[in-house]
Amino acid sequence: MIDLGALPFEDLVMLLSAIAWVLVAGGGLAFFATHRDAALKRRLWPWANLLASASFVALAVWASGASVELAPLLLVGAAGLTAYGYRAAQFCGRCGATVFSANPFVRERFCPKCAARLRADAG
Ligand SMILES: [Zn+2]
Repeated sequence: MIDLGALPFEDLVMLLSAIAWVLVAGGGLAFFATHRDAALKRRLWPWANLLASASFVALAVWASGASVELAPLLLVGAAGLTAYGYRAAQFCGRCGATVFSANPFVRERFCPKCAARLRADAG
């Protein structure tokens, strides 16, 4: 067990920020996994991906002591993760299920829950 009282203040803030990020990201994923409004999820999904990546980059830049050398690498990685996350999810228009595909280059054609045909375009 970590003795939080023994941590320097900046480390404590960083630890709490990382925990907050994981909770917010987990809450976001829970929303997309359980909510049934496909149209709403299609509208929010790109912004949720951008927000998750931007906040992750901000946290990582801060954790690395605002390292300028690391920033381009982080931005490229975050852009890749954002594109991957955006492409990996589809939303069923019939039952509202969120369908994640492990390979974002191969889109699912049918909903695994209700067998409805999924839209071929993003989201
Ligand atoms: Zn469905």
